[in-house]
Amino acid sequence: MNGTLLAARAAYRDVALYETDESPCEVDVSDNTNLWGAPPSVLRAIRDTSAAGITRYPSAYTTALKASLARYASVDPSMVVTGCGSDDLLDSAIRAFSEPGDSVAFCAPTFSMIPTFAHLNALRVAPVHYAVGWGLDREKLLETRARIIYICSPNNPTGTTVSREDVEYVIARAPGLVILDEAYAEFARDRRVDLTRSSERVLVTRTMSKAFGLAGLRIGYAVGAPALVREVEKSRGPYKVSALAERAAIAALEEDLGWVRAHAAEAIASRERFADALRAIGFAPLPSEANFVLVPVPAARDAVRRLRTRGIAVRGFEQLPGIGDALRITAGPQPLMDRVIEAMRAEVSPCV
Ligand SMILES: *Cc1c(COP(=O)(O)O)cnc(C)c1O
Repeated sequence: MNGTLLAARAAYRDVALYETDESPCEVDVSDNTNLWGAPPSVLRAIRDTSAAGITRYPSAYTTALKASLARYASVDPSMVVTGCGSDDLLDSAIRAFSEPGDSVAFCAPTFSMIPTFAHLNALRVAPVHYAVGWGLDREKLLETRARIIYICSPNNPTGTTVSREDVEYVIARAPGLVILDEAYAEFARDRRVDLTRSSERVLVTRTMSKAFGLAGLRIGYAVGAPALVREVEKSRGPYKVSALAERAAIAALEEDLGWVRAHAAEAIASRERFADALRAIGFAPLPSEANFVLVPVPAARDAVRRLRTRGIAVRGFEQLPGIGDALRITAGPQPLMDRVIEAMRAEVSPCV
């Protein structure tokens, strides 16, 4: 053995592993998952799976799941690609439509995985500020000439949305691929999957991790023109969705859309009540169309630690552009939110 460390790919030098706190916590409102649980049909589908359902390889590109998703999104199955979470689609799409050294542009702050996927694919990032009122700064985005423009609406971590008109403006003028991340579509007033019918350069990514309550099964999908989707599928590779996950996802889509819609409505109502309660004790949460709210606070790290001592896990952010420190808190059943409000009142002071 020689003593020098085998050199990994240069682009990985500054990539850190994703950090999570896995210690148990009574009230976990940190990750925007469905705090009401998973659809009953999913649990049935998993329980009823026999050995024959797992000893063989699954469908290479999930033909059956694509058909169910296409019905749900009102598009043709040839416009759908699935993956191991929508993270997998974001990574695959960035790789499929760029060369090393190109860049990914986005309005910051946005989904924290985007810089990671950019770096893993040897791309640079080109962050720009939002326009006032959390609108897209569409000219600044286009001026980057980036091969990939990423737009997240409702945006993680702010919860804010951008206008359909601004998204269409960017799609019409972008030099390369526009990714529209709709991970929170079910909680928003407007959905934009229809934009994929009129443009060959927009890919809408979605997930079953949030409204559908299936984060642990890792199922995401993307919608776009058939030729676009085929390239993402090549980049993704075969067998990325397990047989169990595919069966469970189909059950949810075919049998439990009522359950999903009812709980999305509950999440929206809970989010609004929670934002009102925060305002009543002096906080100023951002306007959200997702299943969470972002609350500016003076010192996020300290606030996260103090809430944790009361059995509450929230996601803290430091020095977000245009915001400063903030806490992102998932909307869930009322008893949980009551505990969060009580702890916020006792442990965290609002920004002055
Ligand atoms: C949660 C989230 C995702 C990733 O979801 P998975 O399908 O679980 O990988 C993608 N984009 C945004 C904005 C998210 O918040």
